[in-house]
This record gives sequence, structure tokens and C-alpha cells, in this order.
Amino acid sequence: MELTTTETTGTAAVLGRMEEHDHEEVLFCFDRTTGLRAIIAVHDTTLGPALGGTRMWPYASEGDALNDVLRLSRGMTYKSALAGLDLGGGKAVIIGDSRTDKTEAMFRRFGRFVDSLNGRYITAEDVGMSTAEMVNIHKETKHVAGLPEEMGGSGDPSPVTAYGVYCGMKAAAKEAFGTDSLNGRKVSVQGAGNVGAALVGHLVKEGAQVFLTDIHEDRLAAIAALHPVTIVGPDEVYDLDVDIYSPCALGATVNDDTLARLKCAVIAGAANNQLAEEEVHGRVVLEKGILYAPDFLVNAGGIINCAWERKGYVREAALKQTEGIYDTALRIFRRSKEEGVPTYLAASREAEQRVRSMRQAGIRF
Ligand code: NAD
Repeated sequence: MELTTTETTGTAAVLGRMEEHDHEEVLFCFDRTTGLRAIIAVHDTTLGPALGGTRMWPYASEGDALNDVLRLSRGMTYKSALAGLDLGGGKAVIIGDSRTDKTEAMFRRFGRFVDSLNGRYITAEDVGMSTAEMVNIHKETKHVAGLPEEMGGSGDPSPVTAYGVYCGMKAAAKEAFGTDSLNGRKVSVQGAGNVGAALVGHLVKEGAQVFLTDIHEDRLAAIAALHPVTIVGPDEVYDLDVDIYSPCALGATVNDDTLARLKCAVIAGAANNQLAEEEVHGRVVLEKGILYAPDFLVNAGGIINCAWERKGYVREAALKQTEGIYDTALRIFRRSKEEGVPTYLAASREAEQRVRSMRQAGIRF
């Protein structure tokens, strides 16, 4: 039977999508009273429980939400594997507008769904979420990371993510320009959110010239009040003459359209799934001579921070481990050159090797 478009998110299609990249489990969560509509995806638990944030976003369709959660959860497996963490990959999405739809009841109901997975999935912040929501989720389940410090947690992981992006960006600068100094470099930052704001702080401190964009004026104004940045339009960001483009908003911004416009030598940012289609755009980036610092490599600071929260939080240790992103990035750039493959593939191969070797050794969570 041929699937019609309305059936693309039906059972057969979902299982087909899971089979594509070996997802272990997908949980659809619905609650009429609170209006909760969410999807939790557990991609791989070979290395440990699947830890990954919850994203709240007004997806145009359930299909879009499903695509996002499947891609993001797989990315988490690679991210933790590459960062050397004993964690698997998972992610959750809540369909809704984070500015208008949040209620305590909704997040507590969501917490019950997280709890039903008995620790196979551990949630944390992602786009549209903050520690306040983690507190409400935590009322219903202990499987939460990124709790406020006064509750024994590590707080918002975003500053540590930003620090890791900064370290990864410096490694990319070293590879592309022969020096890791960002002093005088022109850097465009797309997304003035939690990560973007902290990243701008590091960049400005080192003397980089920052161009910043966001779709929300208030976010831009908050950063511009603290740092000397040049504000640019959301679409204008792709046409700037900059050394480094740093996507820190949503994914898929490295695509056919933008690659025809981008003039940068390096792409290094926090956003997950920056390459619209890994195989296509990873190759085009390589052919254009742009150095792409794989997103799941350079944005691992947040998950490293969450991993430290689980074993007893020591901020200095989390930051120190996050600094390791610099060396890992240089190793991946070297492997990419040696094997003649795009950097995302070199990084994926290293992550897959680690998961495979544990699986073969019979080591499982
Ligand atoms: P956030 O929600 O705080 O910020 C995202 C910002 O991007 C918002 O200000 C939003 O207005 C802006 N934005 C959305 N669409 C845009 C567009 N088209 N053009 C310009 N700006 C746009 O999220 P965050 O926590 O800062 O995370 C940013 C990215 O980094 C996300 O992709 C997230 O998945 C990824 N990431 C975050 C962490 C973390 O620790 N927070 C960890 C790993 C990866």
C-alpha cells in the first residue's frame, strides 16, 4: 500500500524512520488538560542513559517535530560518545510556543512521561527552556539535569556550552588561519540566546569584532547593552564578509541557499544539526574550502556539565573537560584531512567507533 502524505507520521513510517538510524524508542506524549504534545526519542543507550535536552518550539506539524527529535537524539549519541562521556543519546520536543504556552501543570505532566522511562532518558534544557521548567519537571521525576545550583544542580548549562564553542572555534581558527587568536577576527553570531550571549562575551573579551543577529529585538538589546556588537538582520547574516560564522540559533542554516552566500573561512557554532543534509552540505563545505567545526563536537560543553552534575558537580572540572574540545577538534580536522572526508564524517566515525567497540565488548548500560 502506498503511504499518503497524511500517513507519513503513521506507525509504519515512524518505525521506518527509527530503523534508518537505529533509534531504540520513541514515546509520544499527549495530555488534553494541559495541552501537552511532546515526543521523547531515545536513540542509543549503549554508553549509558540517554541524556539530552527538551526543546519547546511551535513546530508547523507533528512530522516536523518528529524529524527534529529523531535527528537531535542521534546527535546526542555522537556528542556524548565523542566527548568521552558514559551517556547515550536522547532528546525531547514539546510542540508549543515557549513565550506563551508554558504552565507548571504542563511541565509536571511532561515530567511524568519522562519518569515512565525509568531513567533510560534524562532530560535537561534546550531551546525555549530554562532552569524554571527543570524545577517543575523535577517535581515528578528525578531524571533531570540542569537544575538550579540551590537545588544541588549545576544551573543553566549554556555558559559551559558557550565556553566549549569558543574553545572549538579557537581550534578551528588555528587550523584555518595558523593561529588560534581571535583578536581582530570578524565573527557573525546568529542567535542572541543563552549560548549566543555567553559566547559573545568570550569573543569580545578576546578582541573579536562581533556581528550579531536574532529574530527578537529584546534579546539583541540585552547583549548590545553589555558589549560592543554590530546588530545585523536575520537574513543579512549570510552575506557578511566575516572570518567565522557561528550559528547559535536553530539547525539547517548551512544549506544550498546560504552556502552560495557565505564568505567565511570557518563555521563553528552551538546550534545542533547545522548542516541541512549532512552528506550533501558537509561535502559542499569541504569543496568550498570552508572549515566546518562539527556542531556535536564543539557544543558538547552543556552535556559535559550535565554529566558532572550527575556525579557530583565541580564547575572547574566541567570547564577543564570542556577545554578538551580544542584538542578533539584538532584531531578531527587532522583525521578529516588524512581520510579526505568532511569533518562531520571524521567526527561521526570516531563517535561510532567508540559505541561499536563498547557494544562488541558486551558493555551496556
Ligand atoms: P535559546 O532559545 O536561548 O536561544 C536561541 C536564540 O535564537 C533565540 O534568541 C531566538 O530568538 C534565536 N533565533 C531563532 N531563530 C532565529 C533565526 N532564524 N535567526 C536569528 N536568531 C534566531 O537557545 P540556546 O540555549 O542559546 O541554544 C542555541 C542553540 O544551541 C540551539 O540550537 C541549541 O540546540 C544548541 N545547544 C544549546 C546548548 C545549551 O547548553 N543551551 C547545548 C548544546 C546545543
